[in-house]
Amino acid sequence: MTCDNCDYKNKKGSKFCNKCGQELNTASNESKYETIRQRKPMILMASIVVIVIGLFVSFAVILNNPLNAFESHLENREF
Ligand SMILES: [Zn+2]
Repeated sequence: MTCDNCDYKNKKGSKFCNKCGQELNTASNESKYETIRQRKPMILMASIVVIVIGLFVSFAVILNNPLNAFESHLENREF
């Protein structure tokens, strides 16, 4: 079994590459399942990204409000 990732020649029947840990394609039937399996983490990743962006936006709003107040305070001091 040759690894798709690093071209390391693994023993027959090994599921994962001994060098880099990449999952090896053992049969064409399994690759079909792999594409289905790979879609789930993609959806999970997308939802995580959305949550992270939402958190960043809410944090920006929370952080921006005191900063704006501070800036306007500074402006008032200067003038
Ligand atoms: Zn490898």
